[in-house]
Amino acid sequence: KILNPIARTTVTQDLSENVILTTVDDLYNWARLSSLWPMLYGTACCFIEFAAMIGSRFDFDRFGLVPRSSPRQADLIITAGTITMKMAPALVRLYEEMPDPKYVIAMGACTITGGMFSMDSPSAVRGVDKLIPVDLYIPGCPPRPEAIMDAIVKLRKKVANESIQERARVQSQTNRYYSTTH
Ligand code: SF4
Repeated sequence: KILNPIARTTVTQDLSENVILTTVDDLYNWARLSSLWPMLYGTACCFIEFAAMIGSRFDFDRFGLVPRSSPRQADLIITAGTITMKMAPALVRLYEEMPDPKYVIAMGACTITGGMFSMDSPSAVRGVDKLIPVDLYIPGCPPRPEAIMDAIVKLRKKVANESIQERARVQSQTNRYYSTTH
């Protein structure tokens, strides 16, 4: 029982704010996780596995994922394949053109670390997270569509548990950090 009237007012205010925010968060997150639209983006052999996801066998439309050709219509980018130094500015630009909130899945050894090109190739980026922030990593060379599906399920869980305010705060901090490092 709260006897202090000042404390009771504070608790009541906190409760009313949080109850409304939680409800809106749930509704908003449900809408977003049911319609994550990935950008049609791939640079090497990993994209063949990503393309298999679009076909009827794996059918990732059932998760509400509809590939988009424009970054303006996408809120997810799966970096499938080697990222070269030449491609890096284009990838950063594509990412920056996606509206917030947005997510990145790094798919395959090449995109995560440079893969087999990390030892002696001067043209491979050693990790896409040096360019853009990554939410999930899928290891493998190449990862199979089942692994991509697993990552999508994990991303949906992440989206389901986010707070709108927290995501906006983290996203703006991350955007600021990455814009100063390019
Ligand atoms: Fe190709 Fe393997 Fe690199 Fe994927 S991780 S782009 S399959 S070499």
